[in-house]
Amino acid sequence: METKVLKATEEAIEKAAVIIKNGGVVGLPTETVYGLGADALNASAVEKIFEAKGRPKDNPMIVHVSSIEEIESLVKKFPEKAKLLAEKYWPGPLTIIMSKSDKVPMRTSGGLDTVAIRMPSHPVMREVIKKSGCPIAAPSANLSGSPSPTNAKYVFDDMDGRIELIIDGGECEVGLESTVITLATEKPRLLRPGGITPEQLEEVLGEIEIDVAVKSKLEENAEASSPGMKYKHYAPKIKVIILKGDTEKYIEYISSHKENTAALCFEDEKEKISIPCVTYGRSDDSSSQAKRLFDALRELDETGAEVAFAHCPSDEGVGLAVYNRLLRSAGFEVIEL
Ligand code: AMP
Ligand code: MG
Repeated sequence: METKVLKATEEAIEKAAVIIKNGGVVGLPTETVYGLGADALNASAVEKIFEAKGRPKDNPMIVHVSSIEEIESLVKKFPEKAKLLAEKYWPGPLTIIMSKSDKVPMRTSGGLDTVAIRMPSHPVMREVIKKSGCPIAAPSANLSGSPSPTNAKYVFDDMDGRIELIIDGGECEVGLESTVITLATEKPRLLRPGGITPEQLEEVLGEIEIDVAVKSKLEENAEASSPGMKYKHYAPKIKVIILKGDTEKYIEYISSHKENTAALCFEDEKEKISIPCVTYGRSDDSSSQAKRLFDALRELDETGAEVAFAHCPSDEGVGLAVYNRLLRSAGFEVIEL
């Protein structure tokens, strides 16, 4: 199959909507990362996403809508708390898990009786949802296990020959996947950190739980609240090791481990580093780190080094999402300096 990449013109958006209406898959820009979109209510269309990504079959999809009205038929109940979150943070990088209606195929929910729903803010994604006339299931547009793509070129690198069309809407604003919160548990629980921080969620919900898998590795046989959290994720080909400590200790460690290594550091540290280096944002700005992290992980592969030493970010605010993704890309390997 030939994969076309088209700039996000009206005509291209129309084309994407027709493909989706007819049960196909399209690479689409969102404000978080690029997604692989298909009709969320068509099980065989969703199946094609799993195939294109090589995604484990029990890992459910996020269903994207363009208006609140579309949600009523997708859920058993639209909880008051969900409405409050929606009012404050939608459209935006927040996914809410609720009990699902029979209309949502089990293929979409990965066999669960809940469904993850998000209203994205990216104008292209919103137009495609409206024009196709269906909610769109869209996981990140990478091969399963690789870093999520934040531009159309990276989608093409992973999906060439696997899907018909990619819509190029430029660089993604947030750079990391959405925050995922479940309202299907007794107490609201954060399953995946993202652009909407725990503090922002607590402003609306009061105290929330943070799932253990956010900051630590699940035991071999533990059941994951979010199936996606048990798989190896966001990993470039290079081996990543996180170094935790101040800039001075970080540089000192690197200076004595120079063979076949590269650094994943902050912009303000770059000048002091004597091995090939890729930067991911400023040390005091988690949002800039979020925006750069996945690109930086892909760029590390181009250094030709075997090991990358990543300087550990803060885990406060949006930093929790940055730390969560970096930890997974490093297979949870952290050295305390
Ligand atoms: P992605 O689509 O690649 O951004 O990943 C979606 C994430 O949301 C994965 O970690 C899924 O496991 C999680 N997710 C989606 N639907 C549900 C659900 N119904 N219950 C728990 N986690 C979910
Ligand atoms: Mg993903």
